[in-house]
Order: sequence, then structure tokens, then C-alpha cells
Amino acid sequence: MNEPGTLASRLSVTDVGHGIRCIDTLQERPKMACCYLIERGADLAFIEAGTAPGVPRLLALLDELGLARERVRYVIVTHVHLDHAGGAGLLMRELPNAKLVVHPRGARHLIDPSKLIAGASAVYGPEAVRRMYGEIAPLPEARVIAAADGQRLPLGDGELEFVDSPGHARHHFCVWDAASRGFFTGDTFGLSYRELDTAAGPFMLVTTTPVQFDPDAWRQTLDRLMSYAPRHMYLTHYGRVDEVARMAEDLRRGIARYELIATELAGAQDRRAQLLRAISADAVSAVRAHGCTLPDAELQAVLATDLELNAQGLGVWLDQCAAH
Ligand SMILES: [Zn+2]
Repeated sequence: MNEPGTLASRLSVTDVGHGIRCIDTLQERPKMACCYLIERGADLAFIEAGTAPGVPRLLALLDELGLARERVRYVIVTHVHLDHAGGAGLLMRELPNAKLVVHPRGARHLIDPSKLIAGASAVYGPEAVRRMYGEIAPLPEARVIAAADGQRLPLGDGELEFVDSPGHARHHFCVWDAASRGFFTGDTFGLSYRELDTAAGPFMLVTTTPVQFDPDAWRQTLDRLMSYAPRHMYLTHYGRVDEVARMAEDLRRGIARYELIATELAGAQDRRAQLLRAISADAVSAVRAHGCTLPDAELQAVLATDLELNAQGLGVWLDQCAAH
């Protein structure tokens, strides 16, 4: 039960320091996806809007926390994949003073979401898109800020900086918060689920969701993010991680393994099934090497959705490589 106003909804909010709250959006399962609420002085900003079905909970949480909707200055989506931006249109309707901040390549897709819906339908099927994402509402152009690389926006007595971050998607930026020396990384710093934490720390998994995986761009993006010497990364999947340097290396190794696996299977019959089998085996061996003792069935439950998406995305990448 996670009805607005219940203890359960308060329990899904975690204070991660520096005026930042991590809010479980309860997509698919607990601790799969989150958004962040930054409070700085009189200003509030959401990072990620989650999906439309989660929007009433976000609004209820503002009420519960005694935070007026009028104080929300920005809703910032790291990229326009629907688990991050699907709820943006609905959320913005309820936040009278907010601007929606999005990568310049993503802006037109939130103003007219028909291509996003078509793209997600191609991956998941139209029925599942309706069930998972609900109403994907368009946004008035006047309320949208397309944040260019290096652009800064004021928040409280500080500011947020937008850093173009291709690799997972070309419509992706990361958001630098100098006050906490942290990046809101969307999907660009991979996935790290708390169920897979061990004595060795948080586990790192690459995310190659269709259709814009670009390993070379991703390596350059990682170089650039690390040049800020970040202390924290705020992942959408899931939560704040602090072992930034080690996890960046794990991510680089994961990207390299995916390139190798995909390239070796490029000409395989039944390529998609073989890709899924190979990256599943890769994930299990990496998780076990990390010291995780979760039973196989539970591990499968945590990773299955992402591995399916990753296999699809690697197939798209191979097709794009072949076309060039
Ligand atoms: Zn994504």
C-alpha cells in the first residue's frame, strides 16, 4: 500500500544530504526508479518526473512535507526515456511556477510526445506502454527550457549546471550540483540497485536501452564527468552512490565487455536470444564476483527487465554499426 498520505509514502523518501531527498517512484517494484527533490532556500527542483501514474504521489508528498507547489522552480528530466520524463506533462500542470528543463534534443518530444509513445510502443508493445506509463501529456512550449551544454540555472543561492552526456542516449544531460559536489546522472552512470550491495560496495550495471547506445561517446562523457571530481552520483536507478571512481572503472569495463559480446554475436543466428543469454551470463558472473549471494531467482527478478532492454539496445547498436 502506498496511498498518498500514508506512512508508507513517507518511508519511500530518503534524505541524501545537502537538501536533497530521494523519492522512490515505485515503478515496477520498490527501489527500481527514483526522482530527487532539491530544496535550496525558497526554491525547489525535481530531478526526473517519473511516470504519469506516480505523479499524484509526488504531489501528495509535497503536501505531506509542507512544501508549497508554488515553490517548485524546475522539473528537470535528464533525458526523455519515459521512465524519467513520461510524467512531466502531468506534473507540470500542477506546478504553476515551474519550468521544465530538458536536453535540446529532447525538448520537442515533450512538447509533442507522439514519437516517444511510438518509440516506447516499438520496444514494449502499445498495451504495456499504456499500462506502465499512463497518460503522456504534452507540454506548452513556453514552459520548456532546452538547456545547452554548460548552461547554468539559479537555484536558491547557488546554481545547477547542465553537462551534455551522450553514451546512453544523445538526448541526455547530467546535472552538476556544486553545493554537494554531485551529479544527477540519469542513466549515464549506469544502474546500481541496492539489492546487489555487498561488502565490496554498490554493484554497477551498464544500461544500453534502445536506440542510442554509443560506447565511444560514453567513455568521453565519463572522462568529462570525472574531471569535476564528483563526491556523489545521484542515480535514477537507484539512489546516491559515493564510490565514484571505482564505479566509473566498473562502468568502463562493463561497456567494453558489452562491445565485445555484441561484436562476437554480430552474425549469429537468433542474435537477440543469444545476446540476452550472453549478457545475462555476464551479469551473473559479475554480480557473483562482487560477492552477492542473492538466490538466482531474486537476482533474475532484479535484473530481468534491464537485461532484456540491454540486449535489444545492443542489437540496435550492431545494426547501426553495420549501416555505417
Ligand atoms: Zn534511459
